[in-house]
Amino acid sequence: MTVASHFIDGRWRAEGPQGESLNPATGEVLGQYHQGSAALADEAAGVARRVFFETPWQVSPRQRAQALFEAADRLEARLDELTDLIVAENGKLRAEARGEMLGSISEMRYYGGLARTVLGRSFEAQPGAFSVMHREAAGVAAIIVPWNAPVTLLVRSLGPALAAGCTCVIKPAPQAALIHRTVMECLAECPSLPAGAVNSVNESGAEVGRALVASRDVDVISFTGSSATGRKIMEGAAPTLKRVGLELGGKAPAVVFDDADLDRAVGELTRGAVVMAGQICVAATRFLVHDAILPEFERRIVESFRSVKVGPGNDPESRMGALIDKDAEARILRLIEQAGDEGELLLRGGQPGGDLAAGAFVTPSLFRIEDTSSALVQEELFGPLVSVERFADEGEAVAKANGTAYGLAASVHTTDLERAMRVSRAIRSGTVWLNCHGRLFAEGETGGYGQSGLGRLHGVEGLDDFLETKHIYMEQGTV
Ligand code: NAD
Repeated sequence: MTVASHFIDGRWRAEGPQGESLNPATGEVLGQYHQGSAALADEAAGVARRVFFETPWQVSPRQRAQALFEAADRLEARLDELTDLIVAENGKLRAEARGEMLGSISEMRYYGGLARTVLGRSFEAQPGAFSVMHREAAGVAAIIVPWNAPVTLLVRSLGPALAAGCTCVIKPAPQAALIHRTVMECLAECPSLPAGAVNSVNESGAEVGRALVASRDVDVISFTGSSATGRKIMEGAAPTLKRVGLELGGKAPAVVFDDADLDRAVGELTRGAVVMAGQICVAATRFLVHDAILPEFERRIVESFRSVKVGPGNDPESRMGALIDKDAEARILRLIEQAGDEGELLLRGGQPGGDLAAGAFVTPSLFRIEDTSSALVQEELFGPLVSVERFADEGEAVAKANGTAYGLAASVHTTDLERAMRVSRAIRSGTVWLNCHGRLFAEGETGGYGQSGLGRLHGVEGLDDFLETKHIYMEQGTV
């Protein structure tokens, strides 16, 4: 059976007690992983620091570009194997798993290209006074990754970190240990990547993550995960005043106006809500609907949600896969009860039973709710459970869309372009999709307002988290 080890200084390290990796669709044990410690985290950070200062990596953009292209090629060579593994260990549909891999490969290449054009500025403020604003790698980056898109969310930080010239220590999510091990095997085979430039330490608790956040050898934390953990990370980084990039939780509203193309909106919002069984930070989680179309929208969306076939990711008939584990299943079932108590269930989801009983499956739910202060509206639910909330006019729609502490993503559905632009500017959110929901790709920055995070990843701004700007000044040419 596969055992995922740590990877430090170019060597696999099979150390620490073993945890189990499970298939959430069947409950079957897929393999094991070694659990690390603060000592291993410190060792990995020390290695990354030595490689940063003692090799030419940070000043070799062409080598870094080459390493990123090699990584993309290695991932591509194992595309089918990694797709199968994501289906098995993550519970996703095959199409979702393949999309995750293709997006990650594309993103590695995107940052491979950008590595060669990390440009600063120069200017002459007065005659003979020359300033060079030089962009330099920030140092060692610790990358802490959640389980829900373990390859994409790693690459979204690792790509710009390596392109910028940082060296890295990765802390993967325990629920995706085997997927991560295979990605690390791909990185281990890249001839242009120096040993120790990318290290990785597994764990099941928080000891390794905390040690990296506290380490004096780490300059930047690039964290993707929940807002609750994000707060702890900011606190843990305060004593060493290191830079933190935080990509946190979301509660994406979808605002549906009375002039929306309802066929299109219902299709987009069904996919936007049930993708990855609702376990994605940008999932459509609140449907805000104009009074004039509320009954018609509810009728259509209930029908659409009811027709979503839930099943294992490797069944081509499935339209929604498994939740990550049985705890998540129990949590969502409790939330469905709460939604029935506090609101009105328009569609009550539940365990499908039969062949799926051993897995972590819950069919999608919809509930109508008036009380926007309810935790069901305010908190991330992270599953296939969506609120329907009404509004009377544009002002109320915007106020409700901005009515949670999150600000990661939103969508606006209307055929009036003036309104689409007006409302998208008024919504305080890192991404706003018009007449669609959930389009993410390497070139387009993502990030959050409010409690959804700090900084941006993806796109050219993704590099900024991993770069310092140094002002080099000289007075020359006036004598
Ligand atoms: P999580 O916060 O529980 O864990 C994320 C990572 O942090 C894991 O690797 C975990 O082991 C580690 N961790 C836990 N406690 C830590 C600590 N005290 N110090 C350092 N590291 C620690 O999140 P999760 O359940 O793995 O992922 C789901 C969450 O991630 C959701 O809230 C989702 O919205 C969010 N997310 C956000 C984005 C985004 O782009 N904004 C993308 C994906 C997921």
